[in-house]
Amino acid sequence: MSSIEGVWQGRVFRWRPLEGGWTWSLGLHARVAVYTYEDSGRPWTFIVDGVIYRRALNGTMLAKWRPKGRARQRRRLSQAEALAVETRAREQVAAFLRAWEAGQVTFRQPPPVTMRARMARAVAFDEAASRADAARFGQVYRPIGILPPDQYLAVVVQITEGCSFNTCTFCTFYRGQPFRVRAPAQVEAHARAVRGFLGPGLPMRRGIFLGAANALVAPMPRLLAGLDAVRRVFPEPRFADMFAFLDAFSGERKTEADYAALAARGLRRVYIGLESGHGPLLRFLRKPGEPEDAYHAVRAMKAAGLSVGIIILLGAGGRRFAAGHVRDTIALLNALPLDRDDILYFSELVLTPDMPYAREAVRAGIRALTPAEQRAQQAAIVAGLRFAPAARPRISRYDIREFVY
Ligand code: SF4
Repeated sequence: MSSIEGVWQGRVFRWRPLEGGWTWSLGLHARVAVYTYEDSGRPWTFIVDGVIYRRALNGTMLAKWRPKGRARQRRRLSQAEALAVETRAREQVAAFLRAWEAGQVTFRQPPPVTMRARMARAVAFDEAASRADAARFGQVYRPIGILPPDQYLAVVVQITEGCSFNTCTFCTFYRGQPFRVRAPAQVEAHARAVRGFLGPGLPMRRGIFLGAANALVAPMPRLLAGLDAVRRVFPEPRFADMFAFLDAFSGERKTEADYAALAARGLRRVYIGLESGHGPLLRFLRKPGEPEDAYHAVRAMKAAGLSVGIIILLGAGGRRFAAGHVRDTIALLNALPLDRDDILYFSELVLTPDMPYAREAVRAGIRALTPAEQRAQQAAIVAGLRFAPAARPRISRYDIREFVY
């Protein structure tokens, strides 16, 4: 699908159709503004005055910008603030369509017949429509706590609700949500509701993320039937690959044969909130399971043909645990049969006052690591890794403040 270029109000523009949406850029270089919408008219991303706005399906927005010479800043906008951003973008699109109607737009190529109608749907997605859309999200989904960074574009299907443990002192994603494994019929009904909600924008997404926190702790018969239900609702090749978290290993243990059965149904990668290879630190964090459990689980997954994404928590346990955290995490990672299909994620400890961790760290007299010390901790762990260059897993940052679904 090729772009359409032209001039409006003395500024060049480019309109590009996407599968399930379109993107319209206005101006050039540092002054460029970019508006991306789903074909339903639902806003996706805007770039205006150097700020990137990414709309979440619950109607909030993440705003990100980089002041000159400083680190990237970000702020989560309330729904009211997000609506104001949406209104400014919508008015720009509407003004363009009015000018087009009045013959005041110059096109370098003939515009496709659908272009005007597709842009008009963005104008029709007004404040009332945006509010209704966000309310519908709340009916279709239980709250979505977090996703791995490479899964922000997946379709989330919640085959479970909440977290089966909810004990980790640094995590409040699922507080107050009881854990529940959905029956296959419920999974299918939920998946159909998700599909209906995403509507014409569905092709903007790829892959299925099986929520919630610990989806894979569900018993195998339920899991297999649940995955079959998801597949019935999302049969397209772009949704063939499925992904999920497994945060703890002390519950129902899966065998290599279990993981192979899940891989045969499309499961591709499991994201593991390992946090650390240091047992005393896991106990301080009240993270269920021991490092050895993670070791056995990863071996079984890899033998079954799955890839893994392993999340390490930087700064956990502050100075008190730093040496053990680095030493034992290196040892555990080096013992795992990782390869290029796998990802090592380093995630900074992000505290909020309502986290038990904050209170317990004060009580234990633990001094927190500064951001620079956390980066040094990552560098120390990476420096200790011994993978053959051809088998080195990808290494990436995992900033939970950037999460948007
Ligand atoms: S197991 Fe994972 S989702 Fe559950 S409380 Fe711990 S960190 Fe949070």
